[in-house]
Amino acid sequence: DGNYAIAIHGGAGTILKSEMTPEQEDAYIKTLKQARDTGYKLLEQGKTSQQAVLAAIKILENSPLFNAGVGAVYTYKQEHELDASVMDGKTRNAGAVAGVKSVKNPIELANKVMENSVHVMLSGEGAEQFALSQGIKQVDNKIFNTERRLKSLKRAKAKMQANNTTWLESEDFKYGTVGAVALDKNGNLFAGTSTGGMTAKRWGRIGDSPVIGAGTFADNESCAVSATGHGEYFIRYQVASDICARVKYQGKTIAQAGDEVINQVLMPVGGTGGVIIVDADGNVAMPFNTAGMYRASKQSSGKQSVAIYK
Ligand code: ASP
Repeated sequence: DGNYAIAIHGGAGTILKSEMTPEQEDAYIKTLKQARDTGYKLLEQGKTSQQAVLAAIKILENSPLFNAGVGAVYTYKQEHELDASVMDGKTRNAGAVAGVKSVKNPIELANKVMENSVHVMLSGEGAEQFALSQGIKQVDNKIFNTERRLKSLKRAKAKMQANNTTWLESEDFKYGTVGAVALDKNGNLFAGTSTGGMTAKRWGRIGDSPVIGAGTFADNESCAVSATGHGEYFIRYQVASDICARVKYQGKTIAQAGDEVINQVLMPVGGTGGVIIVDADGNVAMPFNTAGMYRASKQSSGKQSVAIYK
């Protein structure tokens, strides 16, 4: 009792050691550690899992390395549309925003939706108006721009043209969504996820990240989950809540439940990605079925990890 823990991810996908320079690797590891340790320190000081998750995710959103906030992927129209969600495991309260273009830290806005509105999910311009009413300054969509993601968009468009299709199969494009889950000293679980979605998305496409039960879920009676991967599958298979349901109703450990859903349910149907999970005892599991997933964790039991590849 009194255990606490945090786990974070920076996206899963075709992340290959052969394609990374040592400098790039170092940069990822450093930012993952910084986000994890910032959250962990808050838990250590007795702050809530909500505070830890928000602080960790903000660091990842502000880093150009990840597909969330600055560094988000481009839409087909060469803009950025951001999605985020949070869930509180004690109250089962939740907040989410989708398709937001002018909010620097979408995770903060999702948290405001949870705390200061009667709704769970707000989208597009309406969500932006709500942000203004909450005193969140508007930013120019260009602040999210990075050279690297622009190159990905151009590659994606070339591929779409070559294949004569209006959308992409995601496997070719690296992910980079961010998320955090935590357990605090009071036994409360909290989960959050933030993303720019998928490169070259169009028609207002929304993935799993802002969908409670798919990309994000928390319930003190089972676990807290944040997902990353091919969002359409994560929505159809209700990945985050399915993992927690297996823990709650079948008495599975989070390691078992996570492995089942990621490797036995999603893998055979072609749903690529992974999740981070923390349970009410402070255990952590981080299963994924892709070549890599940026991830890190730290537990009051003394265990800690930071890793990129399988
Ligand atoms: N799950 C996100 C989405 O489909 C993408 C990702 O995890 O990178 O929007």
